[in-house]
Amino acid sequence: MDKAAVIVILLGPPGSGKGTQAARLARETGLTAISTGELLRRESDSGSALGGQVRSLLNAGLLVDDDLMNQVVAKRLSGEDCQHGCLLDGYPRTIEQARFLQVFLQERELEEPIVFDFVVSHEKVVERLSHRRQCPACGQIYSAEFDVYGKDLRCGNDGTPLVRRSDDNTETIRERLRIYEGKTLDLVAFYRPRRYFAIDAMQLPDAIGCELLSLLDTSTVPLVLRCSTQ
Ligand code: AMP
Repeated sequence: MDKAAVIVILLGPPGSGKGTQAARLARETGLTAISTGELLRRESDSGSALGGQVRSLLNAGLLVDDDLMNQVVAKRLSGEDCQHGCLLDGYPRTIEQARFLQVFLQERELEEPIVFDFVVSHEKVVERLSHRRQCPACGQIYSAEFDVYGKDLRCGNDGTPLVRRSDDNTETIRERLRIYEGKTLDLVAFYRPRRYFAIDAMQLPDAIGCELLSLLDTSTVPLVLRCSTQ
C-alpha cells in the first residue's frame, strides 16, 4: 500500500446497508471493496477443509476466529488492488481485530482508518434481511425495500437467479445481532475518539451514499470525489 492509501471501515450490524454502500463507494472512489463475509462464503463453497469449518460457523451466525480472520485480511490488504487503500465491510468485528489492524497500519506508516458507523434499529435489520436477496454470480445485493426485483427474481446485471443467504433467516439474524451487540459495540468505543462518523442508516441509500462521499471528501486529501445523485 502506498503512504497515501485510504482505509475506510464500514461498521454496523448485519443488514445496515454496508455492502450496498461499499459497492457504491468502490464505484465512486476506485477503492477496492473487501467483504470478509464474502471471502468466507467463497472459502466455504470451495470444498476445502477450512471451508468446511467456516461453513458451520457461518450457518450458525458465529464469528470466525480472530487469528484466522486477521491473517486472511492481512493477505488481502497486501494485494495489488489495495495499493491506494480499500473499503472494509465486515472487518474489524472485534476489538482484537481492530488492534491488529491498527498495528498493521502503523507498521506501514499508514493513516488511521476512517470509520463510518451505520446506526439502524434492530426491527429494521430483521425486516431488511428477511427480504434480502443476492446474485450468486456478481454479488449484487437486492432489497425488497428499495429495489424492484424482476418477477422471476433474476439479477439485473447478468440474469442469474437470485438467492437468499443461508444465514438470512430470522433465528440466525437474531444471533448475529446478539453477537454484534456483545462484541462489535466495543469497537465504537475504540474508534469514537479517532476518525469516526456515525451515519443514520435508516435514510434512503442515495442519501447515505452522498453523505459518505462528502465526509470522505472533507476528511481525505488524495481522493477527488463526486456525488452521482447531485
Ligand atoms: P457478513 O457478510 O459481514 O454479514 O458476514 C457473514 C458471516 O461471516 C458472519 O456472521 C461471521 O460468521 C463471518 N464473518 C464475517 N466477517 C467476520 C469477521 N471480521 N470476524 C469473524 N467472523 C466474520
